[in-house]
Amino acid sequence: LARLRARLARSNTALGRGLLQLLSRDTVDEATWEEIEETLIAADLGTGPSLEIVERLRTRIGVDGGGDPRAVLRDELLRAVDPTLDRSLAVAPTATEAGVHRPAVVLVVGVNGVGKTTTVGKLARVLVAEDKDVVLGAADTFRAAAAEQLSTWGERVGVPTVRSDVEGADPASVAFDAVKAGADLGADVVLVDTAGRLQNKRDLMDELGKVKRVVERHGPVDEVLLVLDATTGQNGLNQARVFAEAVDITGIVLTKLDGTAKGGIVVAVQRELGVPVKLVGLGEGADDLAPFEPDAFVDAILE
Ligand code: GDP
Repeated sequence: LARLRARLARSNTALGRGLLQLLSRDTVDEATWEEIEETLIAADLGTGPSLEIVERLRTRIGVDGGGDPRAVLRDELLRAVDPTLDRSLAVAPTATEAGVHRPAVVLVVGVNGVGKTTTVGKLARVLVAEDKDVVLGAADTFRAAAAEQLSTWGERVGVPTVRSDVEGADPASVAFDAVKAGADLGADVVLVDTAGRLQNKRDLMDELGKVKRVVERHGPVDEVLLVLDATTGQNGLNQARVFAEAVDITGIVLTKLDGTAKGGIVVAVQRELGVPVKLVGLGEGADDLAPFEPDAFVDAILE
């Protein structure tokens, strides 16, 4: 929590401070409400949610500031982030009918450069710290350095990485091999890194669909995490839409939240996809991945 506050402090508190200043004016007139709405939109919350928050604030605070503006604002931001969503990760293995231990399978998808491979590495580290046996699958066979980068994370964290040395190998077959290796080794979780070229939407959709289908020959995919770069704003939302069409997303990982004042994207992307932000990236280091906690997030904004 302290870390989240410290990391967000540099950027997102500008949003909180700005809103509190506006709401603390002696008279909150029409022009002020417009400024509040613009501030929310500028922080990437999206026009729909921003309007909704303004309407609710107006009802609760009125013209001459009924109630404590900070408390009311905290309430409404929290409501927009939606603390009721289930943000747990399905990373527990299941025992099959035959008594065989089946590892949980997590596909990690997203456009190149958003922090996908880094997220897989960080997540592996978190799971290992929880005493879980993890196997990594390097199914991003398109980007030459991706498998190497993932193996390096594997070594650092102390878990095996399944990869293909053939450049341009079939991602679905690497993913299948990783899940099979995970089952053979009695692993708890298999994390599969996938390719994220968006130049050709059709190809991407075909490829991700195929990876998922092929992995499902082994059993269900437990999580499909979409990694989004918080600094990319509306562009990131457009990407999210394409991925959501290609494969059923179960959770969002928002990276680079340390480098933006636009944390409102949490609200916008949850609305857009109807799935919760489950994890946030707060830096490039191995320990800079945290579960997304709505209360801590809103408190950090209002710090
Ligand atoms: P991929 O192409 O999606 O697999 O992206 P990478 O994992 O290679 O990451 C791209 C760059 O983003 C690297 O320089 C990472 O160190 C950096 N990165 C990843 N996550 C974060 C984060 O949460 N915060 C910051 N500041 N940088 C990050």
